[in-house]
Formats: sequence, structure tokens, C-alpha cells
Amino acid sequence: MATCLVTGGAGFLGSHLCDELLRRKHRVICVDNLETGSLANIAHIRQPEFVHLNLDITEPYHVDDEPIDVVYHLASPASPIDYLRLPLHTLKVGSYGTHHTLGLAKKHRARFLIASTSEVYGDPQEHPQTEAYWGHVNPIGPRGVYDEAKRYAEALTMAYHRQQGVDTSIIRIFNTYGPRMRPHDGRAIPTFLRQALQNQPITVFGNGEQTRSFCFVSDLVRGMIALAESGYHLPVNVGNPNEFTLLELAQAVIEATESSSELVFEPLPTDDPQVRQPDITLARELLGWQPEVELIEGLRRTIDEAGLEALAGVSP
Ligand code: NAD
Repeated sequence: MATCLVTGGAGFLGSHLCDELLRRKHRVICVDNLETGSLANIAHIRQPEFVHLNLDITEPYHVDDEPIDVVYHLASPASPIDYLRLPLHTLKVGSYGTHHTLGLAKKHRARFLIASTSEVYGDPQEHPQTEAYWGHVNPIGPRGVYDEAKRYAEALTMAYHRQQGVDTSIIRIFNTYGPRMRPHDGRAIPTFLRQALQNQPITVFGNGEQTRSFCFVSDLVRGMIALAESGYHLPVNVGNPNEFTLLELAQAVIEATESSSELVFEPLPTDDPQVRQPDITLARELLGWQPEVELIEGLRRTIDEAGLEALAGVSP
């Protein structure tokens, strides 16, 4: 049994990670100030092996437990709606929050994993994206607060590894979906599901020809734990390489929900990437990992597990 500290453990991905770590019989310390997460995501966890600490990681913080074996650092606003609303907080979480959490991992001699993102590639000029690609990011656009915070956090992580000897890892997460996404968080899948379940028009940005790759949350969590348990230090892409246009995604959501919604088109947000597809050769070779849940099945599981009312935004 290992003791794992999960920052952002009351968020969408973090709460699924806590569930899986507990299922594997680990102890879990969840550090989350509920900025974008919710107690509802962890209310079902009743084991004594789980504790939630309401701490803001942008301030120095300490955890008395000893030992701490693995630190999963997920805390950060993640959806565009959140980081556009919280630009300075997003930069502070990526910088101060990551400093404090790396310092904690160093003190406890813990393995450290940071949840980075495919957004470090920006609007990529290389397709699909391999870990060797350095990215094409606009630092001063509205999305820069998120993209650059994550790029800084990666640089900080490598500096703690190279100079301070911390045992670090970096997961570059591509779009992930599943139950517990908030219906109004602005990301494509919860938005489309909410609109489809209410039989309202589905809002597609641009002409809908831009592509994304969608990974179901259970696949992502499996890859994240496999990377944390490896001894690897350089970034690893984890995501589903099956690429869909936004139009195809909208059709899949209509099929999964048996909705009568029609499509409407709205202007593209600033710096919206045109393509997004992970090259997961490294994850396959290093971790023996690959996604198992295809889009239609993942959408159906999301609907079954989250419930129609929650997805439609009728109940919290
Ligand atoms: P989320 O918003 O649901 O979870 C983030 C959690 O961090 C929330 O519970 C929030 O309350 C917490 N948090 C924020 N600021 C904090 C602070 N100062 N102190 C303590 N807790 C704080 O987002 P998510 O989708 O679960 O994303 C989790 C991580 O994965 C993020 O780092 C995100 O950048 C990364 N990621 C997610 C995706 C995705 O598709 N979901 C893709 C790429 C990267």
C-alpha cells in the first residue's frame, strides 16, 4: 500500500484518479480548495484511507503524513471557461502551486507526476503531435495563461529533477471526457451532451472541420498511474489517437443520446487549435498502454454513469 497525494483530487480527473488509487488499496490525501472542483465529486468516498484537505496550493502548504510515496499534481483550472475567468490564478497555480508541490515531493522523497496538457503544443504545425515537438503557442493571447503556465510547470519540473534530484514525471493529457464533467464547463463533449439531451441546437464553433481526439477517463487514469509507477522522466503523451472533426463528434453525441437537436455554427474562439491528435508510440512502448474505450461506448458510459439530469444541467 502506497500513500498518494493528489492535488486537484476533487476535480473531474482527480476524483476518478482518487477512486482508482483507492480501488488499488492505496491511501489517498486529496488536496483541493474547490476552486473549480466540487465536494460532490468525492462525496461517495467513505473509506478511512481517504482524506480531503481544503488547501490553496498557491500558498506554501505542508502535509504531516509520512511517508508520502507518490504526488499526483493535477490542481489547475482546466476548461477555457475557467482559465479565462481566472487568468492570474491559473498562472499562479502553474508557477507557485507547482513550486510548492514539487517542494513537498522533494521533502517527502516522493515520486512526482505533473498533469500537463496537449495545449503545450499550441496550434500545432506538426501532426500528429509527438513529444519531441516543441509547440506553436501564442504567449499573449487569452489562452496563453493556461498554455504558458503548463509550459512553465514542465520547465520547473525538469529543473527540480535535474538540479534537485526529484523523481519526476510529466503526462501530456489530450482531451479527456467522462462522468463528473460539469455540463456548463464549456468543453465540447459536456456542452454537446447537455444541448442534445435538452433537444436544443448543438453549437459548433467555426465550420466544425477542426479535429480533436477524445480519451475516456478510465483509459486516461490507467495511463497516468502506469506513468507514475514507471521510472521515466521526460514527457509522455496520453490520449486517444482516434481523430474526429467537431461535426463528427456532434453526430456521435446525437446518436448516443437519440436527440433531435440540429447543428448551429458560431465563430471560432481566439487561437482555437485546428488539429489535435496524440502520437502515443512512446506510451505504447514504455508503458504498454493504449486506450480501450471507443467514442460511442465512452459517450454511452458517460450518460449511464452521470445520469441524464446531471448531464442536462438540470441538477448540480
Ligand atoms: P478540474 O477543474 O475539474 O479539476 C482541477 C481541480 O484543481 C479542481 O478540483 C480545483 O478545485 C483544483 N484547484 C484549482 N486551483 C487550486 C488551488 N489553488 N489549490 C488547490 N486546488 C485547486 O479539471 P480537470 O479536467 O480535472 O483537470 C485536471 C488536470 O488535468 C489539470 O491540471 C488540467 O490542466 C489537466 N488536463 C486535463 C485535461 C482534460 O481533458 N480534462 C486535458 C489536459 C490536461
